[in-house]
Amino acid sequence: MPEPDLVLIHVPSVYDFRQEAILYGPIADFAPAPFAFEIFPLSYAPVAEYLERAGYSVCMLNLAQHMLDDAQFDAEKAIAGLNPIAFGIDFHWLSHAQGSLAVAQIVKALHPETPVILEGFAASYYHRELIRYPQVNYILRGDSIEEPLLQLIECLLLKRLPEQVPALTWRTQSGEVAENHSEAPPTSADDRALRGNHSSLSYQKGYPAAVGLIARGCIRNCLTCGGSAYAYQYVHGRQSPGYRTPESLARDLRDVRCYDNGSVYVPCDITQPGMDYAYRFLQAMRDFPKLICLDLLQPTPRKFLQDMADALPHLALQISIGSHDPEIRQALGKNYSNRAIEQTIEDALSLGCKCLNLRFTVGLPRQDYDSVMATIAYCDDLLTRFQDERLQPSIAPLLPFLDPGSIAFEEPEQNGYRLRFRSLEDHRRALLAPTWKQVLNYETEWMTVNDIVRATYDATVAMARLRAKHGLISEEDAKELEALVNQTRRLMAEIERVLTLDDTEQLQDTLRALKPEIDAVNLAGSWKSDLSFASKKCEWQEAVNSMSGGHLRGAQGLWRSIRGRLTRRQDTTGNTTKAPPAHVSCDWFRPPSI
Ligand code: SF4
Repeated sequence: MPEPDLVLIHVPSVYDFRQEAILYGPIADFAPAPFAFEIFPLSYAPVAEYLERAGYSVCMLNLAQHMLDDAQFDAEKAIAGLNPIAFGIDFHWLSHAQGSLAVAQIVKALHPETPVILEGFAASYYHRELIRYPQVNYILRGDSIEEPLLQLIECLLLKRLPEQVPALTWRTQSGEVAENHSEAPPTSADDRALRGNHSSLSYQKGYPAAVGLIARGCIRNCLTCGGSAYAYQYVHGRQSPGYRTPESLARDLRDVRCYDNGSVYVPCDITQPGMDYAYRFLQAMRDFPKLICLDLLQPTPRKFLQDMADALPHLALQISIGSHDPEIRQALGKNYSNRAIEQTIEDALSLGCKCLNLRFTVGLPRQDYDSVMATIAYCDDLLTRFQDERLQPSIAPLLPFLDPGSIAFEEPEQNGYRLRFRSLEDHRRALLAPTWKQVLNYETEWMTVNDIVRATYDATVAMARLRAKHGLISEEDAKELEALVNQTRRLMAEIERVLTLDDTEQLQDTLRALKPEIDAVNLAGSWKSDLSFASKKCEWQEAVNSMSGGHLRGAQGLWRSIRGRLTRRQDTTGNTTKAPPAHVSCDWFRPPSI
């Protein structure tokens, strides 16, 4: 294979998660591989396509996925064997703060002369902090970096200074930090950046799922969302969303589906750009032969549900309701009554929707412990009333961070949040903390971190019991999950006791000794994620629970993955491959290093 011009690396959340002793607990229950967060951001697809159309070869290296798949995968060797014009590292989610900087450091050590470019939402937000790290050469800001990245690669190739590259933060030859001006992000569907493929495939445990984006930006302002209108304006200067045409979205989803045979998910309500858009999308996807899940952001008229069901014979729906309490929902930016959303549930089920996923959250404004448990009681009422296994309630905490750029992060006090840390370096170090409790970057006026942990564990157990009661999972599965939660609680208490030790060396030795047990709980959690939430009868739910990355391919299949998919760390018989030697990072205990 010829050398790629650009290698885009997707890093694990924590490098090297295989060696660290970190208890992920419920994060492992709610995200299939929380230590890796191995899904590619969808922005990679159009970026790679844009550069390939300009004649550059782009290689996408999903380090997180490879490290997850193979305990022996040597990330440094894989990076050492590459020789591109530049390495790009996505830093879209703040949960990758440690992994992005650690991998950038490795790249720089192995290829001191090759530029390292960071991009993504978190990179844009923290660009001034990022440029202070010696392993980072360039940061491309904004939600549409296709053209700036192309210009930067051309500058690097021709050894020109990138003074004219838009939205670039970099160091000049004299070592000063320069922030090039930004251009207005594209809003027209005709723009080349928005015409590119915005879809990707996710795999895990044999369940593929294709995901497709309708837009860059959003018109809504959900309080905790880093993809809200507020956040896009605050971080990227975007005044309005840039929608793709419904036909191009449908084309991508149908093309991606050519590679596989699983489900399709379109996040964010297709009615957001207007009803004309929604009906054009339905027309373009009419009679789609596989399960397709669409988000509903609000109660929806029966007539439109009927039209969706008529067009899509395998329709699934997802409603992120947040809380059963309308006052809490209102504080979150979701202003509708229980009666109205229950009518939508009733209509959707009666019209033949294959699965209706109802998502609740822990860690919301105005929500206390009792309110979280009242949500479970509300779910019991709903399941008793509808008696329908297609209705799938689930509950999960806001993890691990409040999104920077969201209203809650930028105006925490006004909205009842208390931020535990704010800077990039604080987040980077927090990710190395020994339990998920220390990783959380927020608490609320109504729940401390301890309350959020307690509510999360109690609600997880209560939801599993409820699901068993209504036949959505078996009694054995519910008991197994409860035992796992109890084990996680006990281990967290033990780690907290260890953290009170004064002697850092003794503390690290004790944590190291706990690593096998921590690993067992993390892996059990991630492999049992579908016990808590999935009905074995619902193909879509299994696909969503397993939606965690894999190897991204484009509409034309242009992009290459550096290595083929490897044997998973744990095979279907439960055998695990030998793990690398235990290591406990002391970075969390040290003062900031920059
Ligand atoms: S969660 Fe709310 S604000 Fe965020 S993308 Fe979805 S609709 Fe928009």
